[in-house]
Amino acid sequence: MAQQKMLQFVRVAKETPEKREAGDRAKDFDEIYAEFAAEKAAEQASRCSQCGVPFCQTHCPLHNNIPDWLRLTAEGRLEEAYAMSQATNTFPEICGRICPQDRLCEGNCVIEQSGHGTVTIGAVEKYITDTAWDEGWVPPIAPTQERSESVGIIGAGPGGLAAADRLRRAGLQVTVYDRHDRAGGLLTYGIPGFKLEKDIVMRRVAQLEQGGVEFVLNCDVGTDISFDAIRGKHDAVLIATGVYKGRDLTGPGAGAQGIVAALDYLTASNRVSFGDEVPEYLSGELNAEGKRVVVVGGGDTAMDCVRTAIRQGAVSVKCLYRRDRANMPGSQREVQNAEEEGVDFVWLSAPKGFAGDPVSSVMVQKMRLGPPDATGRQSPEVIEGADYAEPADLVIKALGFEPEDLPAMWGEDALEVTRWGTVKADFRSHETSLPGVFAVGDIVRGASLVVWAIRDGREAADSILDFLAQPAQVAAE
Ligand SMILES: Cc1cc2nc3c(=O)[nH]c(=O)nc-3n(C[C@H](O)[C@H](O)[C@H](O)COP(=O)(O)OP(=O)(O)OC[C@H]3O[C@@H](n4cnc5c(N)ncnc54)[C@H](O)[C@@H]3O)c2cc1C
Ligand code: SF4
Repeated sequence: MAQQKMLQFVRVAKETPEKREAGDRAKDFDEIYAEFAAEKAAEQASRCSQCGVPFCQTHCPLHNNIPDWLRLTAEGRLEEAYAMSQATNTFPEICGRICPQDRLCEGNCVIEQSGHGTVTIGAVEKYITDTAWDEGWVPPIAPTQERSESVGIIGAGPGGLAAADRLRRAGLQVTVYDRHDRAGGLLTYGIPGFKLEKDIVMRRVAQLEQGGVEFVLNCDVGTDISFDAIRGKHDAVLIATGVYKGRDLTGPGAGAQGIVAALDYLTASNRVSFGDEVPEYLSGELNAEGKRVVVVGGGDTAMDCVRTAIRQGAVSVKCLYRRDRANMPGSQREVQNAEEEGVDFVWLSAPKGFAGDPVSSVMVQKMRLGPPDATGRQSPEVIEGADYAEPADLVIKALGFEPEDLPAMWGEDALEVTRWGTVKADFRSHETSLPGVFAVGDIVRGASLVVWAIRDGREAADSILDFLAQPAQVAAE
């Protein structure tokens, strides 16, 4: 039925393209997608063949017990399905919305592999937990005993919050520091609201607050408080700061007005959806309305930018990517969504320079894929003489993120980092080179996924509990 609706939607969009603005098409998509869960969760769940070789489960980073909660959903036992799903995932309603399921659970569904279309696992997961919240089945965080030890968590993204949840449930005193004015990390200010509604994130933050987690916001560790001071205040520290140094464009004119960073653009849009007054949005600097938009990049951040620009009422939205469709890092499902909403993908293309200040066009150079490099991936090569000018009023740089230099920012040379600048942490225990300091999420893995940050946060919480249970080491005199 959901597939029928999707086809119907594609057909409508194809029949009357000239009459329908891109924003209307995006709205249709949102409505159809949102409607799905309420109507069809049980029907979808009953499609699970209970195959006995749950590749979906092994390919879910949290190893969610998917076949069992699908079976419970199909039988109408939603409260039990919710309890089972929540047991392995701190934020199932968030993962259900924004995991790239086509690369994880759903991509490995046996029914999908046999060519009959995957069970829509993510949508069912979302439905179960949304229903649990509506029905009052989600209990507050209420530790059975209070413990005196305290943990300081730097970063209120999914990694930090998943750890905070688990540590607080064990009765520890937990303080989360974040430089933003709201908790949630990229769940709040990165991922757009049409994929992840902000009240869904804030509901979890409120649950943690009501359960006794202290949030210290607008607090940049390294500026407002030193890393050393945090270590001094707490018995253990968790670093969950994510990666925020955006890769930049080069070439003539790359510094012109109207060429903006993806995260600035998305943050402004998300702030507006919270009702904040955002001067850069009001001035048009970070607003695509009425503009010809070019987004550079082929990952999920680029997809979020193009789809946000459509919703803001851009005149046209083009996405330049230097490889082809098959080799792009973003989710194919996201590309399909973007295409259906009216985004034009210009494959095998890269910006060479920019004209005008404010920017008026992008000089595009055409590429082809050359022989594979050392990693086996085909490298793009420039096709000489094929350049052309693409008109643009707003250029959004979505080229990926790198870690900030934490040892330098925090004056802590003993915090070991890899050659990519990510924090070195043990794969299982998440311990860093500093005693009592753990690290999780993107700052360890490099730009990754919410579900991996959640897994890390849960594992690190368990390691911190083990660490604090150890008797204090008394040095021999
Ligand atoms: C635009 C965009 C879209 C994405 N879409 C998806 C998606 O659809 N699905 C998906 O699975 N993943 C997606 N991702 C990736 C996902 O958001 C990240 O992998 C995940 O949020 C990482 O979690 P984290 O807890 O490690 O860090 P973050 O979520 O980045 O949180 C880190 C927090 O630390 C805070 N912080 C940093 N430095 C300091 C400091 N010095 N002092 C105090 N606080 C600090 C930051 O303010 C932030 O709140 C997306 C990423 C981006 C950028
Ligand atoms: S957490 Fe993500 S990968 Fe795991 S079942 Fe849910 S949607 Fe699939």
